[in-house]
Amino acid sequence: MATNGLRVGIGYDLHRLQPGGPLRLGGVDIPFDRHWIAHSDGDALLHAVIDALLGAAALGDVGQMFPDTDPENRGRDSAEMLATALEAVAALGWQIVNVDCIVFAQRPKLLPHRQTIRQRLADILHIEVERVGLQAKTGEGIGPIGREEAIAAQCVALLEEGPRT
Ligand SMILES: [Zn+2]
Repeated sequence: MATNGLRVGIGYDLHRLQPGGPLRLGGVDIPFDRHWIAHSDGDALLHAVIDALLGAAALGDVGQMFPDTDPENRGRDSAEMLATALEAVAALGWQIVNVDCIVFAQRPKLLPHRQTIRQRLADILHIEVERVGLQAKTGEGIGPIGREEAIAAQCVALLEEGPRT
């Protein structure tokens, strides 16, 4: 494998919302009055993390690995999808240095759930929680995010070669 030992990847996802909760975000069910409109469980944060990992390893994106035309992916647990993506990345000899994520949501407030989501991400990714950054932004009351029609997420992931010692 020709590499310089480090790779960075970026991921972005947005899904629309519909009435009814809870909201599955970062693999955690958050009490909220809306949830995703999506083919899988709709967890935009986990989808952004998947795309960041796959992007860093040049393995495509979540839509290629888990096509929404495949009935098997209907309502699928995104944590399981992320674990599968991580396996593919690890199989190429990559491991995660860190991930840093931003959730763009007018509501709910993420601060009360921040540590729970960080720990859940760390558990799924098999890394220490100190390697998982999570920031939250509102939509400033404007646009589809500000009007609470959608929630979006971004993630960057840094990968390094070989097992960490
Ligand atoms: Zn998605």
